[in-house]
Amino acid sequence: MQLNSKISICQKDITLLKVDAIVNAANKSLLGGGGVDGAIHKAAGKELVEECRTLKGCETGEAKITKAYHLPAKFVIHTVGPIWGNGNNNEKNLLESCYKNCLKLAVKNNIKTIAFPNISTGLYRFPKQMAAEIAMNTVNSFLADNNSIESVVFVCFDEENYNIYETIIKNWMTHN
Ligand code: ADP
Repeated sequence: MQLNSKISICQKDITLLKVDAIVNAANKSLLGGGGVDGAIHKAAGKELVEECRTLKGCETGEAKITKAYHLPAKFVIHTVGPIWGNGNNNEKNLLESCYKNCLKLAVKNNIKTIAFPNISTGLYRFPKQMAAEIAMNTVNSFLADNNSIESVVFVCFDEENYNIYETIIKNWMTHN
C-alpha cells in the first residue's frame, strides 16, 4: 500500500499546533498527568480539566473529545494508550484502537486536520519502533477508506521517535 500524501511528520511541541484537533495521550482518569498530557492541560488552561471531569474517564484504546480552550487547536481528542507490559496483554491491538478511534471521532466531528503524539511511547514504555509502525499502518489504512480527513501529522517530540518515523517513511517511499 502506498503512503498517503496526507501524512506528514514534524518535531515540535504539539501544544503549539494550529490544527483542528490535537490528540492527547491521556490516562484513564482524563484529569491530567505527566508528559504530553501535562503540557496540553497546562497550555489549555483549567477549563480543560473541568470539561474532562464531566466525561467520567476513558477506557484504554478508546477516545473522547473536548474543546481546546486556550490552545491554538480547536479540539483535543483524548485517548488512553496501553501501558506496555510484556507484549502479551493485547498492547498492540489497543494501540491500534487508539489511532482508529481518534480518527473515527475526528470524522464524526468534521475535523479535517489532526496531530498525533507518539502515544504510549513515554511513561507507558511501549517500544518506539513497534509503536511507530502501528501508528503509521493504522492511519494509512484508515485514510485509504476515508476521504474527509485532509491532513494527519505525527508529532515526534523526541529525537529518537523523529528518526524512527523518518526512516519508516523513507523505506516506504523506496519499497512501494
Ligand atoms: P504515554 O503515557 O502515553 O507514554 P507520554 O506523554 O509520557 O505518554 O509520552 C508520549 C509521547 O509524547 C512521548 O514520545 C513524548 O516524547 C511525547 N511528548 C511529551 N511532551 C510532548 C509535547 N509537548 N508535544 C508532543 N509530544 C510530547
